[in-house]
Amino acid sequence: MNYRIIPVTAFSQNCSLLWDEQTRLAAIVDPGGDAQRIISEVESAGVTITQILLTHGHLDHVGAAAELAQHYGVPVIGPEKEDQFWLEGLPAQSRMFGLEDCQPLTPDRWLSEGESVSVGNVKLAVLHCPGHTPGHIVFFDAASRLLISGDVIFKGGVGRSDFPKGNHGDLIASIKNKLLPLGDDVTFIPGHGPLSTLGNERLHNPFLQDELPVW
Ligand SMILES: [Zn+2]
Repeated sequence: MNYRIIPVTAFSQNCSLLWDEQTRLAAIVDPGGDAQRIISEVESAGVTITQILLTHGHLDHVGAAAELAQHYGVPVIGPEKEDQFWLEGLPAQSRMFGLEDCQPLTPDRWLSEGESVSVGNVKLAVLHCPGHTPGHIVFFDAASRLLISGDVIFKGGVGRSDFPKGNHGDLIASIKNKLLPLGDDVTFIPGHGPLSTLGNERLHNPFLQDELPVW
C-alpha cells in the first residue's frame, strides 16, 4: 500500500491518503480540515477516492469529512459507534476550538473490532482501541506492515485521556494488548507528529515502560 501524509488544520493533524498501487483506488483517512489542500494532493497523486475513513470523532480528524464525501460522492466509514456523541457534538467542538462551524456527522457505516475495509486489493484490519475516545479504531495493513494509529500512540507519547469517556488505563491496555502484538517491524502513522515503529515505542516510549520501583 502506498501513502501520502497531508498535514491539516491548526493542530497539524496527519491526514493520510492511502492507495493500492495496482488499482490506484484510494481512501482518505482523518480529513480534519483544509479540504482544498487534500483535493489538490489527491489530484497530484492521480488516484481515485472510494471512501473516507475515520479513526475517531474529534473535530481535528473529521472536520472536512462531510465536504470531501460530497465532493467525491463516497461514503464515510468509521469510527466505532461509541464515538457517536463526539460526532453529534461537532458544532460544540468547533466553538470550543474557535474553528469554522462544523455540522453533526453520521457515518454511512460504523466499524467494529475484527471487521475490515478494502481499498482496492488492500485489506485493512480494524482494531478497536478505546482510551483516547471510547470508539477509537485503528487501521492495519498486515501486508505492508503499516498502521494508521490516530490519537492512540505517538512517537514518544500516547493520546490524551482527559476528555469525556476517556480512560488512561484503557488506552495503555489498547496499546499493549492490541498494537504491540502486531510486531516490532510495524510502522505507524500517528494523528500528529512524526512516524515511528511499534518496536521503537515498545522499547523507548515512556508511557509503555513497566513501573520502576520507588525507593
Ligand atoms: Zn483526538
